[in-house]
Amino acid sequence: MDTILVVNAGSSSVKFQVFEVEGGGGLRRQIKGQMDGIGSRPRLRASGPNGDTLADRAYQIEAVADVPAAMSAAGAWLRDELDIKPIAVGHRVVHGGPDHAHPVLIDHAVVTQLERYAPLAPLHQPHNLAPIRTLLNFPTLPQVACFDTAFHRNHDALADHYAIPYQLHAEGIRRYGFHGLSYEYIANRLPQIAPDIAGGRVIVAHLGSGASMCAIRGGKSVESTMGFTALDGLAMGTRPGQIDPGVLLYLMVAKGMSASEVQDFLYRDCGLKGLSGISNDMRELETSVDSRAAFAIDYFVYRIGLNAGMLAAALQGVDAFVFTAGIGENSVSIRARVAERLAWLGVALDPAENGRHAGKISRSGSRLPVYVVPTDEELMIAQHTLALLVNRQSPKRERAS
Ligand code: AMP
Repeated sequence: MDTILVVNAGSSSVKFQVFEVEGGGGLRRQIKGQMDGIGSRPRLRASGPNGDTLADRAYQIEAVADVPAAMSAAGAWLRDELDIKPIAVGHRVVHGGPDHAHPVLIDHAVVTQLERYAPLAPLHQPHNLAPIRTLLNFPTLPQVACFDTAFHRNHDALADHYAIPYQLHAEGIRRYGFHGLSYEYIANRLPQIAPDIAGGRVIVAHLGSGASMCAIRGGKSVESTMGFTALDGLAMGTRPGQIDPGVLLYLMVAKGMSASEVQDFLYRDCGLKGLSGISNDMRELETSVDSRAAFAIDYFVYRIGLNAGMLAAALQGVDAFVFTAGIGENSVSIRARVAERLAWLGVALDPAENGRHAGKISRSGSRLPVYVVPTDEELMIAQHTLALLVNRQSPKRERAS
């Protein structure tokens, strides 16, 4: 059985999925797993295609002290116990910098280049690259990097620039945008779900622990709420979203915070967690009776509304609105509250359809149709990895296309 391994490595967990390559080039998910508690209480959990448990085991802390060790332990389990020997590995890499508008086959030079973007995604990039380095020890195993920035790389210059001297833009200080694998997946699904609007102007709200929104026209990203880093735009679990840069200057100059303290503050202490003082988890906030939890939710929804207005202006109108990711796919009340804020854009929600998590949750007469589309970044990565593999094996086809 030919398989593709997809790896999404974070600071304390390595998530992985295994897809079987079917005869016609289709992909079937076989295994979903993660090693979490890296460096604290390592635990491997994995399930099969029907949700059946394949593994649930604890490791000694010394055995899985860091991300490369987690990758090695998960790899050993797949190889030795399930006889999985993937034909290629696809990795989620958050930042591709200015040069990568597409996934890329990885070699040492690519890794060196991607290391340069670690300061632009300090919580993600070093961890994304760690298992890649580990697997470079198997030089015959093709590895593919799939970037969260790539889908946004063809933005118009107006959307790509900050109003700073041009030289800094040339050096790479640009508005990249993130969650691109999620948006690309949604853009690819829309022709099947809603063929009448798939070629039109769509706002997608990826509302997870990281949150952003994307304006898509004709299946292509034209604007994002995120920019140089994944800090901008909407309020998130622990990140503030849009903030006046003067606040950061104030923290450094008047409060004496160092650059690394400000970095930690921005990535770990703000957003829903900072506002509520309770949690970064939307489920906890929704069940809390604390008024600060309610305020954090109000703020989250308010900023989604504001950003929808901005993206509608970028698109010069909107033909559909899509919710996705953990909060967007699961929270009936957040969707209802966002829909209320979008009434001026023509949204009329169907509460019953929203309550049962239907694919289309607006009323039939709603001027702006609203959809819920579960995202699948891992499938997107597996598809890209397979496509690069096929192209590599038949370069004539690549030249002809
Ligand atoms: P993600 O990063 O896409 O996995 O999304 C994580 C976020 O989704 C967390 O804030 C969770 O609290 C939130 N979430 C997941 N399920 C629900 C739910 N049923 N209701 C509200 N929020 C949810």
